[in-house]
This record gives sequence, C-alpha cells and structure tokens, in this order.
Amino acid sequence: MAATLTMEEVAKHSTPQDAWIVVNGDVYDVTKFAKVHPGGGGLLLEYAGKDASEDFFGLHRLEVLDKYARLKKGRLQGAGETPKTSSEVLATLSHVPFAEPSHEQGFKSPYFQESHAALRKVVREFFCKEALEEALDCEANNKAPTKELRMKMASLGIVAMVQGPGEHLKLAPNGLGGGAVKAEEFDYFHELVVQEERSRAMCPGFEDGLDGAVSIGLPVVLKYGADWMKKEIVPPIIRGEQTVVLAISEAFAGSDVAALRTTAVFDASGENYIVNGTKKWITGGMYADWFVTALRTGKAGAGGISMMLIPKSDAVQTKIIKSKYSSAAGTAYITFEDAVVPKKFLIGKENGGFGIIMSNFNHERWMIAVVCIARARMATEETFKWAMQRKVFGKALVEQPVIREKLAQMFAGLESCTSLCYDITYNMNIMGPQSPEIGSRIALLKYHTTRMNHLVADNAVQVFGGRGVSAGGMGRVVETFSRVYKIPSVYGGSEEIMADLAVRQAIKNYPKHARL
Ligand SMILES: Cc1cc2nc3c(=O)[nH]c(=O)nc-3n(C[C@H](O)[C@H](O)[C@H](O)COP(=O)(O)OP(=O)(O)OC[C@H]3O[C@@H](n4cnc5c(N)ncnc54)[C@H](O)[C@@H]3O)c2cc1C
Repeated sequence: MAATLTMEEVAKHSTPQDAWIVVNGDVYDVTKFAKVHPGGGGLLLEYAGKDASEDFFGLHRLEVLDKYARLKKGRLQGAGETPKTSSEVLATLSHVPFAEPSHEQGFKSPYFQESHAALRKVVREFFCKEALEEALDCEANNKAPTKELRMKMASLGIVAMVQGPGEHLKLAPNGLGGGAVKAEEFDYFHELVVQEERSRAMCPGFEDGLDGAVSIGLPVVLKYGADWMKKEIVPPIIRGEQTVVLAISEAFAGSDVAALRTTAVFDASGENYIVNGTKKWITGGMYADWFVTALRTGKAGAGGISMMLIPKSDAVQTKIIKSKYSSAAGTAYITFEDAVVPKKFLIGKENGGFGIIMSNFNHERWMIAVVCIARARMATEETFKWAMQRKVFGKALVEQPVIREKLAQMFAGLESCTSLCYDITYNMNIMGPQSPEIGSRIALLKYHTTRMNHLVADNAVQVFGGRGVSAGGMGRVVETFSRVYKIPSVYGGSEEIMADLAVRQAIKNYPKHARL
C-alpha cells in the first residue's frame, strides 16, 4: 500500500539534492530524474516541495505519469482514490461531452442493445490495455504488428467480426468478444462497435496493418470464393495465424480500376494461370500470406478482369512504400513475375471480377467512414480537454468565443456524420451492403466524413498550436490525426469519386417527370 504523506512532509524536500513534487495527488521523488528531465532539470526543480499538478497537465499527457510510476513515494493525505492510469482512462467510457456517441452518453437509440455495449467493453479493453503498448511502439517505430497480438485479437473473434455478419463468425475460436454476442445475433452495429474501438489508440498505420487490410480482403473470399477456400484458407485467417490483403490498385489504375494491366494467362497445360505485373499501395502487403488480386484475363476494360487468390511465393515480391502514416501499415508495392496460380484459385467467374470489386467496395468504404468518425471523435475529445486546461492570457482557451466556435463546428460535424452512418448501418442490416442504392449512400457518407475530418484536423491543430504540429508529447493524437487524415480521403475510392458516385446514382433515380 502506498504511504500517506502530508504537504508539510513534501515541503521539506525542496532542494536539488532532495526534491519531491506532487502531481495528481501522488508524491514523486524527482531528485535523480531532474538530471534527465527532457524539459530541463532547472524547470522541474522550481516545483520541489510543491504541488505541480496544474502546470504539469499544461505540459504533459497522463501517460507520462504511468511511465515514471517508479518515482512515486506515496499519496497525499486527503487526495482521494488513486487516479486511473492512462490506459485505464482510455478503456473507460468518457464523460467528456461528444467524446462518445450520444447513446453512450445518455441519449436513447433504437440501434444499440445490451450486446453492443457488452461487446464495446470487451473490444475497448483489448485495444486500450493489451494492444496499446505494442500499438504505440509499432506506430512510432514503423514496426510490423506481431503475430502473437494478431492471434490474441483473433481469439476474441475480432478478425471474424470485422468481416460483418455471416457464417464465418462461427469459425471464431472462442466465440465473439468472449461471449458478448452470439454469431446469429451479430449485426452491422456490432461490427461498427468493433471498428470504432479498434481505432482508439490513434495509431492508424498499426491499425491498418493489424486488421484493416484483412477486413477488405477476406470479404471477397467469404462472399465469392469457392467452397474449398472457405474450408481450407479462411479458418487460419480467422484465427489470426495467416493474413490476406486486397490488391487492386496499380500505378496505371487507381480511380480507374478498369484500366488495370497486371495479367493472368493460361500456361500450356491449361491448368494454371501465369501472373505478371505490379500492384501499388497494398495495405498490409508486407505481411500477407494471401493476395486477393484483380487481374486482366480478357479484353480491355471492365469486362476483362478476374479476381484471384494468390499465395505468397518467391514469384510475388513486396517492397515497402513509405507514406504519411507509419510503415506499421505494411503498405506495399508488389511485383508478380511468372507467378504460377492453379486455376482453382480463381474467385467467381473468369472476367467477372469487376462486379466483385465494386460490390466489395461498399463494405470497405463504410468501414473507412466508421473508423474516420471514431478518429475524429478522439481528436475532438483531445481538443476539448486541451481548450479546457490550457491557459493563455490568464484564462483557459475555451473562454475565447473563437475557440468555442471551432468546438461547435467539430461537435456538429461529428454528430451529423454519426447520424448518417447509423442510418446507413441500419439499412445495411436490412438490405445488406451490396446494392447500388446503399452503395451510393455509403459513398456520400465517406465523402461527408473525410470532409468532416478535414475540418476537425484543421480546427484541432489550431487549438493545440505548436503542440498540434509537434511529433509525440502533448499533441500526439492531434498531430497524428492531422498528418494521416488525408489517406482515407484517397484510399477505398477518393473524395471526388465518392461525391460523383453519389450524385450519379441520385440522377439515375431521378423521377422522370419531376419539375420545379
Ligand atoms: C495509404 C494507401 C493505402 C492503400 N491501400 C490499398 C489497398 O489495400 N488495396 C488497393 O487495391 N489499393 C490501395 N490503395 C490505392 C487507392 O485505392 C488509390 O490510391 C485510389 O483509388 C486513387 O487512385 P490514384 O492514387 O491512382 O489516383 P488517380 O486515380 O490518379 O486520381 C488522382 C486524383 O484525381 C481525382 N480524380 C480521378 N478521376 C476523377 C474523376 N473522374 N473526376 C474527378 N476527379 C477525379 C482523384 O479523386 C484523385 O484525387 C491505397 C492507397 C493509399 C494511399
């Protein structure tokens, strides 16, 4: 049990040779630490024998206290309960207004039941406690997420759940979220909860490398793959033992998927395809065992494309592409050189790949929007907290009307995207994610969300000032968010293409005789 100390005792330790300080009710001996304090020893020693809490939180994140817990001497008398660690705070539902979706802060919702709340708790605990240390390390140091963590995540059913509802959920080794929800009850709101929670560490490269890629690659196999693939290839992926990615884009074909050039032609035996060409920006490609790949098997244009499941081999080489976010994402440039692929690895019909690609995009785009809203919510909570605690010109930033207006823009953007997202998710439960009607709504959602991210990133950085553009430290979350938010406005279908798709579909559905 921690010793109970009084302020009088602390005050006796007020020299460079013997320096104690109080932060958040805990007493720390900083005598030795002052020599290595990143902000300089002199500054720290100004607080020797005193309570440094207010200035501490103007300059440091809560994580710093966890890091230096070993310096603790005891707890101040009357300071109350021991405060939560940073990962415990992250794992707990926040009471900061708008830091959680409204149904988690007292509003009623027709969409969420007890099982959604139970699932949120389990998944949040996993990402904020078990995965957090690795997430921060991988993100900062461009490291690959470990197989051990992927398997732990899979043992909670998370790899299965990020594919949406379906029979595959029964393959999760220990059920879903430790029994929080049954496979037959699982709906898109359950998946939404998982997608929201996996974004909580604000380590976007790590998140995409850990399970983002598998949630865009595997649905193709689940929906269109042959039965043998579902029996032999899907189970090890659901268990986290292997991983799969989606390889469509090329240097020649991004928005214009139908222009892709990588070819698959039959060998002399007619039993195997020989694949040659390249793929660019393939998320998780550096770690993949399997590549769900779009290939040209026929004439030019959309009608000559097939989908194939290609195993990693010496004929499939990967090279990292550095981008705005951490290389933990494993974003790869892929070269196929005479890769031999038996014809049973074809997914769907030969030359029927374009339709598969388009229908798979809907779930991917919805997932990207959910994640973008969750990240923007994190950035907004951070900004609100900072505006409340940062004092400039003798008062908290939030006392400035111009700052309050920025917060209003952020809250409104978040809530409008969330409502649109929930409306679409409800309809995905009814009609599935595949139809053109829902596809155009999802495109509009992705467009609206990435625009909202632009506003949130802009405002958040302005409120944080220098810390909003400094790597690590106080502004880590906001700096990361503002650095990476453009990535989802490009991948999975860029903003312009999303806007265009939504309006084209609206024009298609326009009643013939509608007039002003
Ligand atoms: C980090 C990252 C990860 C990715 N992960 C994957 C992955 O896992 N798998 C995969 O297959 N691909 C992936 N991609 C590729 C991504 O889907 C493409 O980058 C995207 O589709 C855009 O293609 P492009 O970059 O070639 O841009 P282009 O198609 O060259 O377009 C350039 C710009 O012009 C605009 N534009 C294009 N056509 C029009 C038009 N008709 N009207 C108006 N504006 C237009 C676009 O909006 C875009 O802003 C990833 C990309 C990135 C950056």
